[in-house]
Amino acid sequence: MKVLKFGGTSVGSVDSIKQVIQILEKSISKGERTAVVFSAMGGATNRLIEIGRMAAAGNQEYFELLKVVEERHFATIRGLINVKQQSSTFAAIKGLFNELEDILRGVSLIRELTDRTLDLIMSFGERLSTVIITEALKNRNLKAEFCDARQLVRTNAHFGMAEVDFPVTNRLILEHFAKTSALQCITGFIGATPEGITTTLGRGGSDYTASIFGAALDAQVIEIWSDVDGMMTADPRKVPNAFTIPSISYAEAMELSHFGAKVIYPPSLQPAFAKSIPLKVLNTFNTDFEGTLVSRAANSKEYAITGISSIDDMALVNIQGSGMIGVAGISARLFTTLSDNNISVILISQASSEHSICFTIDPRNAERAQVVLEKAFETEMAMGDIDSITIEKNVSIIAIVGEGMRKSSGVSGRLFSVLGKNGINIIATAQGSSELNISVVISKNDLSKALNAIHGVFFLSETRSLNLFIVGVGLIGGTLLEQVRSQSAFLSGERLLKLNIVGLSNTRKMLLEPSGIAPDHWRDELDAHGVKTSIPAFVQRIIELNLPNSVFVDCTSDKDIVRHYGTLLDASISVVTPNKVANSGRYAEYQRLQRTALQRGVKFLYETNVGAGLPIINTIQGLMDSGDKFIKIEAILSGTLSYIFNTFGPQVRFADVVREAKAKGYTEPDPRDDLSGTDVARKILILAREVGVPMEPEEVKITPLLPENCLQAPTVEAFFAELESSNDYFENLLNEAEAQQGVLRYIATLDNNHATVQLRVVDARHPFYNLSGSDNIVSFTTERYKDRPLVVKGPGAGAEVTASGVFADIMSISSYLG
Ligand code: ADP
Ligand code: ASP
Ligand code: MG
Repeated sequence: MKVLKFGGTSVGSVDSIKQVIQILEKSISKGERTAVVFSAMGGATNRLIEIGRMAAAGNQEYFELLKVVEERHFATIRGLINVKQQSSTFAAIKGLFNELEDILRGVSLIRELTDRTLDLIMSFGERLSTVIITEALKNRNLKAEFCDARQLVRTNAHFGMAEVDFPVTNRLILEHFAKTSALQCITGFIGATPEGITTTLGRGGSDYTASIFGAALDAQVIEIWSDVDGMMTADPRKVPNAFTIPSISYAEAMELSHFGAKVIYPPSLQPAFAKSIPLKVLNTFNTDFEGTLVSRAANSKEYAITGISSIDDMALVNIQGSGMIGVAGISARLFTTLSDNNISVILISQASSEHSICFTIDPRNAERAQVVLEKAFETEMAMGDIDSITIEKNVSIIAIVGEGMRKSSGVSGRLFSVLGKNGINIIATAQGSSELNISVVISKNDLSKALNAIHGVFFLSETRSLNLFIVGVGLIGGTLLEQVRSQSAFLSGERLLKLNIVGLSNTRKMLLEPSGIAPDHWRDELDAHGVKTSIPAFVQRIIELNLPNSVFVDCTSDKDIVRHYGTLLDASISVVTPNKVANSGRYAEYQRLQRTALQRGVKFLYETNVGAGLPIINTIQGLMDSGDKFIKIEAILSGTLSYIFNTFGPQVRFADVVREAKAKGYTEPDPRDDLSGTDVARKILILAREVGVPMEPEEVKITPLLPENCLQAPTVEAFFAELESSNDYFENLLNEAEAQQGVLRYIATLDNNHATVQLRVVDARHPFYNLSGSDNIVSFTTERYKDRPLVVKGPGAGAEVTASGVFADIMSISSYLG
């Protein structure tokens, strides 16, 4: 004997019922005795409840809604049964709808919907669908018989969630099956009391019906046919990367379904387990797929856990007070009060100090729970032993489940660490003593992010992914995207890392695509699908998307964008940028960003703020972290000025050098922006802060390089004219340097907590003497590098090296992922 069950998702339409019939025909043709359980057509139960409530509220529109349900069933008859044979089925279904109409009229007259009546109303869903499918099977010459489970499944009168009387039920089922050899088409979900009053077995209860029949009949297998490829590592609707669990133990399946894996109704596992009947979860729409086998054997040992599930909408009740410490019986009274009031508790967590107990319940019971508990603990509250009973709504529970957890240590560590790295706050946690399940309570807003991040860590630990949001796709941003494109095959192959470009924005357009923007067509996609840029909206959307491992990359030099860094970091989104504005403003702002990143467990990286891709900030941070002390920093931090002074020499006019530098694109449009020294000042300011000096921008002392007349010139052309006329001034500087056998260098210095920027003469013993092109150079004198300074030297400007520095920062975030 084999018992099959088809859920609402499998019997929701004519096409899917045709698919069901094929599956049944195939099973029967193998010669095996088969029984089949059907659910109501997908969504029908919810509709019936809605109609019942409308009727009870006196809303006469229930009638129209009922007609829609009726028409859906009639259309199903027309789609499945030959015209000639349709009439008897129409008559049967019409008869059921007439009966239902009478009941609803009664409900609407007395304006009351009891649980008992609601069960009766809901029972029509299964009765209607099963009658139609039975007739459709007969129409195909199968020996099928409608079987109303109310004749066989005996329950108590706990309406909405009736308990089964197994001895009687088993006997009735065996007697019934002994009398007939026809294929029994059984209504799922419903039963009846000894008095014959209709009951239901709880939402999703058709699975239970299948298990009850399977166990009574000692079936070889119970097959649960649904719309997914078996039981999966997580709900595929919430975690796109979820995959099928090939085999799972009853206990694990029970735990997963109890915590929200709707694919099996938890009580269904018990009768099958008691008789060791294997349960298979299969996909009606992918019949060749093997699905999941639920049996006594546990899952294979490939992963540390078997699956993840969640209950999305919960309320957390917290009772706290110092008077609870060491007082026996408080929890006993607490839970007795709840159970007396029919409020079931999903998860309990008590701090070991006994100072507080918290537990989660259905939010619909929250207000009632508060009232009954405040009443029960009236005396304790009056005496101050219990301070408060508070309720927090909009929380979710996530449970990770698996037999493997017993043997492997560190599972909870991995769980908490991935939540921490994604800035997800754990409100409460509980571990079952069976060690089969660890549950966490989190804010509902974080649910999707948490599920996907946890799934990534436990099941796809080999492949990690970063979600990138890039603002500014000009020279640096564009180069970065090109580097990402050409490197992505290597990264996914060798580093098992996927860089997902989720957001892009230039000054005109922005585009956000959670499934990722292809790095080889980003320009076309941004053009074709982008909308008008609004940075606040872009930032808002990033936060709303709440994707795990999100990184905001600012490749602009914009002053307004940096205002959003704090908000982003606060939302646990890392920030990577070559933009110096944030770090060279007020010290308090710099410090705030650093602290927020630290508190949220994310990164704020800006290696390219100074010296483009050269490892300057990383070097400082490494030395600081390892306890070195900085004595002095000297640096040439402007590629432009480096070029100018490396080229300026005897027989060369200073104005010509600047003109040439401008022509080569080494300078800003107005070369005074470089020559004024403010950019270099910003860089030494950042370095000072990195070594722990809380410096403000105005504290950096700049000795002007240009004479006043050059600085004051109204236009760039006038500036060049002034440069020409000041040629003697520059020649003098050069001569003085030569007299000292030195060269001119524009140097930023941090010494004794003072920062200066000035033109200096250095001789051949100085490490800055030999410098070529537009190189940058930084020399660190520290306690460890005292005799000979640590020197970092190389190209300190250019899109290629800056982009690769940004890329390296992004990569360093990936290595930090769980
Ligand atoms: P049926 O109507 O066939 O009884 P249900 O809607 O009750 O189907 O259950 C199937 C649904 O369960 C799937 O569509 C899926 O979204 C959800 N689900 C939740 N968790 C899981 C999981 N771990 N594996 C598979 N499906 C799951
Ligand atoms: N039709 C019922 C429900 O929607 C039972 C089931 O589908 O299993 O809850
Ligand atoms: Mg179901």
